[in-house]
Amino acid sequence: MVKNIPELFGCMVFNEEVMRQRLPEEVYRSLQKTISEGKEIDPSIANTVAEAMKNWALEKGATHYTHWFQPLTGVTAEKHEAFIEPVAGGKVVMEFSGKALIKGESDASSFPSGGLRATFEARGYTAWDPASYAFVKDGTLFIPTAFCSYGGEALDTKTPLLRSMDALSREGVRIMRLFGDTETKRITTTVGIEQEYFIIDKAMYEQRKDLIYTGRTLFGAPAPKGQELEDHYYGELKTRIHDYMADLDEALWRMGVPAKTKHSEGAPAQHELAPIYSTTNTAVDQNLLIMTYMKKIAEQHDLVCLLHEKPYQGVNGSGKHDNWSIGTDTGKNLLKPGKTPAENKQFLLILAAVIKAVDEYPDLLRLSVAHPGNDHRLGGNEAPPAIISMFIGDDLQEVVDSIVRGTAYHGAKRGKMNLGIPSVPVFSKDTTDRNRTSPFAFTGNKFEFRMPGSSQNVAMPNIVLNTAVAESFRQFADVLEKAENFDKALAKLIKDTFRKHSRVLFNGNGYSEEWQKEAASRGLPNLKTSVDAFKTFDAEKNVTLFATHGVMSEVEIHSRKEILFENYAKLINIEAQTMIEMATRDILPAVNAYVAELAGACAAKTAVIQSVDVSMETDLIETLSRLVGEAFTAVKALKAADAAASACATGEARACAFADNVIPAMTLLRAKVDEMETLTSSDYWPLPTYGDMMFRV
Ligand code: ADP
Ligand code: MG
Repeated sequence: MVKNIPELFGCMVFNEEVMRQRLPEEVYRSLQKTISEGKEIDPSIANTVAEAMKNWALEKGATHYTHWFQPLTGVTAEKHEAFIEPVAGGKVVMEFSGKALIKGESDASSFPSGGLRATFEARGYTAWDPASYAFVKDGTLFIPTAFCSYGGEALDTKTPLLRSMDALSREGVRIMRLFGDTETKRITTTVGIEQEYFIIDKAMYEQRKDLIYTGRTLFGAPAPKGQELEDHYYGELKTRIHDYMADLDEALWRMGVPAKTKHSEGAPAQHELAPIYSTTNTAVDQNLLIMTYMKKIAEQHDLVCLLHEKPYQGVNGSGKHDNWSIGTDTGKNLLKPGKTPAENKQFLLILAAVIKAVDEYPDLLRLSVAHPGNDHRLGGNEAPPAIISMFIGDDLQEVVDSIVRGTAYHGAKRGKMNLGIPSVPVFSKDTTDRNRTSPFAFTGNKFEFRMPGSSQNVAMPNIVLNTAVAESFRQFADVLEKAENFDKALAKLIKDTFRKHSRVLFNGNGYSEEWQKEAASRGLPNLKTSVDAFKTFDAEKNVTLFATHGVMSEVEIHSRKEILFENYAKLINIEAQTMIEMATRDILPAVNAYVAELAGACAAKTAVIQSVDVSMETDLIETLSRLVGEAFTAVKALKAADAAASACATGEARACAFADNVIPAMTLLRAKVDEMETLTSSDYWPLPTYGDMMFRV
């Protein structure tokens, strides 16, 4: 059956169209003002909005509503409340008040707070975010909300994100005014998030405790084939995957998520989905919905979607590219260089602001993507290194260099592409090639931040970007508003900024060894592990940045830092415990059983002919027995390292001990087990292999 996509799109969303139809004119206008200009909500309209939302939701089959929020667990949270309200005669009516829409009270004690709140001070609040649309999913009306403690500190990722968007707008509008723009009321950041993922057959997934508990394989010898033929990237979609993707698209379209691009990725069984970009908070909410639906729809096809950054060692991991741009509420993209970027002073100033932001806060950008899963990816030969640098393309680099040198710029010519086939049209080339190895690349009218991990909520990368650029704007506006000769001051500011910060610009191969050395000589930080990055969170300059723009208070920063350390330690602990259990209870007994069979075969054979060749049996018995012993020793060492790390007094000490001592112990155990896998009969090996998991979906 052919579906009417425009009709289906957004049918489960309380969007602008529905609001216009269902709200009284003045209420609709007041709400739109709140949404588009970031104005405070008029509380008197809440009851009307709530009533309209409820009636609409009931028509969509909803029986419950929930405030939907993003606590610091990294996943979303929801607590469903039925609309029922008792009335006389033992009956109920369906009710939803403005108060219930605006504010929710919940027991916050079981969410991470980083010491902001003791368990006896349990009260937490959720507050409606009118700028993100409510929607109906599985019979429940979902209301996007912010989440804070009784004391008013943010306990979620959304609150600082909204604050950072406001900060960027506030300072950005000052810049617009300086260029004579009197119309722009708000500067918005737009974000398009590319989501990579792996698919595995459900039956195989269920045989892997490591995937179930940790989302990645903790053991596994490489398959005979990996990704070396590069035949999976953009490869034809298998029927089963195609059907899954079709159902996923449709489910997302219903939820108003503009899923646009889908294709196979570099590693076997790896794929990507990208929606059309939208305002940052909406894009982040939608990305969380995309992740939810990727998992949910997979189940309906007897598949499992893996969102971990590195499900399989030895092949590419998954990232989540954050395409970031800034624009005005009048529809202008401020990162569009135009035909003559060298003369477009407003663009150059904004470019300078971004370059300055990235060069001054590389530690925070690195921190924003720091996650145990992502440590396996960054710096591998598949993702940018842990060093933050920027690629702006040959053309803009030439503009920047000529300004710094004070020489004339001779514009780049857009070459023509002529393939020499008469029937293939000739077209203009882009002025610059792409650079896949740069963590932060200019791609024509936006920047692509390529470091975030596939499982991460990208609120934090955007919080950092927005706030750091807001700070550049603030400093620029302070200078330019006071300038006697605007043009002169502007030219000087652009030149000085380029000169001071162009060390962060790098157009070469970011994966190379030489870049590591070159970056060090330029003084660019290289924070290799998550733990290294977490430590920089509360550096004085970072606390000042967030406080200046009202994005995060010092107290909030400390609590978040604490949560990052805690979370890291907990995740590695789960991985270590899973390895210990799998090795002790499944793998070592299986190998021993195989050795026993070999021994039996050997004895039986020699009983018949004493001089028979039993070299395979004896060789394997010897090697496997040695490996079993070594693996068992490695298990004991891992147990000891894990116990010692867990016993450290502070979150930071625990995280450091897990990074420094537990992870190496895990690596050692894995090496022994993977070697045993290559020698053990597949009849005995208790786990699906890499080949089974990646090539049999
Ligand atoms: P790539 O070729 O980099 O893989 P994709 O098509 O997969 O590109 O993803 C590009 C993403 O960038 C899409 O989500 C797209 O909507 C988004 N994008 C395009 N223009 C903008 C913009 N102005 N602001 C933010 N994101 C944008
Ligand atoms: Mg893409």
